[in-house]
Formats: sequence, structure tokens, C-alpha cells
Amino acid sequence: MQDLKDLKIAIVGAGYGGAAAAKALSLLGADVTVYEQASRIREVGAGIGLRPVTMNRFREWGIFDAIARVSSPSEYFEILTPTGEPIMKEAWPADGEQTRTHLIHRGDFIEALLGALPEGMVRLGHRLESVEDKGDSSVLTFADGTTAEADLVVGADGIKSVVRQRLFSDKDPVFSGEHAYRAVINVADARGMVTDDNLRMYIGRGTKVYLLPLRHRDQVSFDITARCPDGTWTPRVTKEDMLRTVEGFDERLVDITRGLDLDTVNIRAVYDIDPVGTWHSDSVVLIGDAAHSMLHHQGQGANSAIEDAGALADALRGADSVKEGLALFQATRKPVTDKLQAISRQGWTEDEIDEVFPGQAPTRTQTPTATATKE
Ligand SMILES: Cc1cc2nc3c(=O)[nH]c(=O)nc-3n(C[C@H](O)[C@H](O)[C@H](O)COP(=O)(O)OP(=O)(O)OC[C@H]3O[C@@H](n4cnc5c(N)ncnc54)[C@H](O)[C@@H]3O)c2cc1C
Repeated sequence: MQDLKDLKIAIVGAGYGGAAAAKALSLLGADVTVYEQASRIREVGAGIGLRPVTMNRFREWGIFDAIARVSSPSEYFEILTPTGEPIMKEAWPADGEQTRTHLIHRGDFIEALLGALPEGMVRLGHRLESVEDKGDSSVLTFADGTTAEADLVVGADGIKSVVRQRLFSDKDPVFSGEHAYRAVINVADARGMVTDDNLRMYIGRGTKVYLLPLRHRDQVSFDITARCPDGTWTPRVTKEDMLRTVEGFDERLVDITRGLDLDTVNIRAVYDIDPVGTWHSDSVVLIGDAAHSMLHHQGQGANSAIEDAGALADALRGADSVKEGLALFQATRKPVTDKLQAISRQGWTEDEIDEVFPGQAPTRTQTPTATATKE
């Protein structure tokens, strides 16, 4: 688009999707403002893996080094039984020797992304209440009564997106029947279970325990995902409840769980959304969890949000109008995320491993080359 430089863009939400979109779109010269409800940006204490496609976007946007400085490259992830017998070993997708999957603390990640934006681009304390789509432009109204008009509104406001619910779908998020308990602990407290930079997932009896090393911080992200019928968004859970989820697991995992400081554990019920039919009008578009929140079993939600930001910028740059760019964006990304949403709903029981990795489940250690998790 010729006139991208005159385009006024309002992004709702300064999470990974919103921050990345702000970076990508402002690099194209657009006039970008990000409106974030929180008065201070804080991320959950937990780690995630950034795939090569994501890292390559950072390279393109000139922020690769800022991200690499606070992350560790990783070679593979491994799935094991509760007591540590290998089920399978999978090399992370890698872009030749060029770009590897990197493990990062969520807080460091959002800090690095937001730190790459020009001063003043993000306006904190702006909670969107409603959005009026006027065709060629849209008007945002915030909880404090202020408004903002933009040629393009990017709804990057997460799983409970107001933008989605007002304009595209009034369906509620869907409870997965699971809880996630997430904490970051010191390697020294990990009972000798962290010796390299590779992700290990111990699964069995409806529980998954993830150990995602953050050795550049001398820490490890320790996450339990366990079945629970209580769909309260932030449920009340005791240490005993948590210990019950890891009964029969490697004693060291039980010990780590016992040693957790509950005040530092992020506890939440796990939700996703059903695929949304349309992500855009002529002046509003959804990205990230707002568009396609997915369960975390494939570790693709944040990566998809970054991919969306890159694809949105590409589509707008290549199109003749905003309208055309948004249609191109949806056509590029929706088939990919529809599939990821579906795959992510398959967890990692033995049967489910067999569905995602046909013929490879379980009790074998393998390094398959192509999998459904690769983008
Ligand atoms: C337990 C768990 C584990 C996960 N593990 C992984 C993983 O390993 N790898 C991975 O890639 N992904 C993972 N994810 C998914 C990942 O966290 C999300 O996909 C990602 O955070 C989506 O980014 P986003 O920017 O779209 O949304 P969010 O991160 O939710 O950001 C939305 C932003 O919008 C703001 N906002 C919301 N409403 C409003 C409003 N009305 N007005 C203004 N601002 C608003 C919020 O405050 C927030 O800052 C996991 C998720 C969970 C729950």
C-alpha cells in the first residue's frame, strides 16, 4: 500500500501480539498507538519456546539480539512417562544452522518486545469498553470515557477480546477441563533434573509436567497441567490439590511440587475458543488469542500471535487497500491457526500422541523429522 504512512492504527492490547504488531506496522511507517488496559505490564512467571519462524521475524524487525540476549537456544523436546521412561524425542524445528528455537521467560519476552517500541507508543490504563465500526474507520471507547478513532483497529486483546465479542463472535471461551499451575524456580531447587537446555514433558494419568529450562537465568519453568472439572478462571487450589496431580510421578517432581511457594505459582483454568468465522471488517482485524486462542499443548499460541503480526504487516504492504490487506491476512493465517487450534485440543495421552505422531506412540525413543507441530 502506498499510503501506509498516512494510516492511523490503534492496537488494543500490549501482549505479545499487540506489541509485535506495533513493531511491524510502525516499521512500515504507519502511525501506531497501542491501548492497554493494565496500568503496569506484568507477565506470568513461566517460560515459552520461540520457534525459528518467530525468531526470524525478530531478525527482520531488528530485535533478534534483544530477544536472544534473554533466551537460550534449545535442540529438542522430550516426552517421558511420569517416572521418566522416554516416550519420544523430537528435534525442535530449526531453520538450518541459522535460527534455533529459543526458550525465554514470559516477562523477559514482553519486556524486550515493548522495549523495542518508540517511547509513548503504548498508552497504559486504557481499558476498551466498546468499538464502533464505521466502515472506513472505527471508534474505540475506553472505560474512562475517552475515545480514539483510527483507520485500522487491531484487536490484540487476548482470549476474552472485547473487539471479538463486540464485532465478530459472542461465543464464550471453552473450558478444556484442565488447570495449569505455573512457576519459575531456581535450577538449584530442581532436584538435579535440569542439566541441559531441552524441554521435558512428563505425562500420565491426565497430568503433564513441563520442565522448560531458562538456564541463562539459572532457572527453570515448572508447569503442571492437570485435569480438573472446576472451570473457575482463577481457581483456588491448595498444595495438597497440586500434590495429588503428580501422585506416582518421579519423586523429584513430587518434591519440586512440594517445595513450591504457592504465592509464586500462577494458577488458572485452561480455556481456548472455537474457530471464529471472520476475523476482520474493512477497518478492524483480530490477531493472536483474540482471533484464535488455542490450548497450550503444542506451545503455539504466542508464536502464532507473532506470526500474525508479521503476516498482517506483509499483507498490508502488498495490498492496494486496507480492506484487501485484511482479507489477504485472514486468507494467509486462518487456515494455519484453525489447524493449530484443532491439534492443540488433542492433548498428549498415549492415544493422542498416536494421533498427532502416527505410529510413534509410546515407549519408543525417536527423532521423527516432520510433525504436526512444525509451521
Ligand atoms: C498455561 C498456558 C501455557 C502457555 N504456554 C505457551 C507456550 O509454551 N508457547 C506459546 O507460544 N504460547 C503459550 N501459551 C499461549 C500464549 O500465552 C498466548 O497465546 C499469548 O499470550 C497470546 O498473546 P496475545 O498478545 O494474543 O494475548 P495476551 O497475551 O492475552 O495479551 C492481550 C493483552 O490485551 C490486554 N487487554 C485485554 N482486554 C483489554 C481491553 N478490554 N482493553 C485494553 N487492553 C486489553 C491484556 O491486558 C493483555 O495485555 C500458553 C498459554 C497458557 C494459558
